Amino acid sequence: MLNFKIYSLFPEMFPGSLKYGLVGKAYKNKIWNFETIQIRDYSKYSGNSVDDKPFSGGAGMILRPDVISESIEKTTTKEELKKSIKICFSAKGKVLNQSLIEKFKNEDSFILLSGRYEGIDQRVINHYEFEEVSIGDYILNGGESACIVFMEAIIRVQDKVLNNPETHKHESFQNDLLEHDQFTRPSIWSAPDGSSYKVPDELLNGNHSDIEKWKKANSEQNTSKNRQDLWKNYLKNKKND
Ligand code: SAM
Repeated sequence: MLNFKIYSLFPEMFPGSLKYGLVGKAYKNKIWNFETIQIRDYSKYSGNSVDDKPFSGGAGMILRPDVISESIEKTTTKEELKKSIKICFSAKGKVLNQSLIEKFKNEDSFILLSGRYEGIDQRVINHYEFEEVSIGDYILNGGESACIVFMEAIIRVQDKVLNNPETHKHESFQNDLLEHDQFTRPSIWSAPDGSSYKVPDELLNGNHSDIEKWKKANSEQNTSKNRQDLWKNYLKNKKND
């Protein structure tokens, strides 16, 4: 079974949205499990304090390395620490993408650390060899929502989670392309203001080759419009093919 051990100051935020939909069903079916650890329970300081002022000066507080270390040492075996993928959520980490999810897809044990305040003392991150992962170029108040995003992305690529595993093959980020636009019934939709919208003809005529051509062209259009970084990679790989 896929296991997540989560260190947080707000363990009650889990499983949060992971209770719902196919990921929630996978939890009920024991495809994945999680355990939360309240970091604060391992503080020996007055009022169970977990943070202190940064040595560099500046605003905010930093999570103390000794408290985090104590929480880890008291709740994890050496063996578990060694075999687990250890991730700390941080805006200064490497940005999460589908390739990273694919890299971790077959792992079955994750130790996840969520920061709060201005972040975590770097020494404890380095000591336990946590990989720092960001979910995007913006600042959240805490790592818990990043952790939930990470878990959901890992869980949905597990075998038996999606109803149709073929889905993975046609989703955004495969081969550096975003997905093509999607349409369903009705083939002509009248919006409340009277505007009328038709599904592209190529998708309606039942010709498989026309449909594939349209999907590819539309994927390329979406990628060049919205993601120049992926588009450049795609063009480079296409040239080398
Ligand atoms: N001072 C930090 C900086 O400038 O990078 C921001 C700290 S943030 C207010 C508090 C916590 O939220 C971080 O320790 C981290 O765990 C989490 N966090 C914030 N933004 C994140 C992001 N983009 N991805 C992952 N975690 C994030």
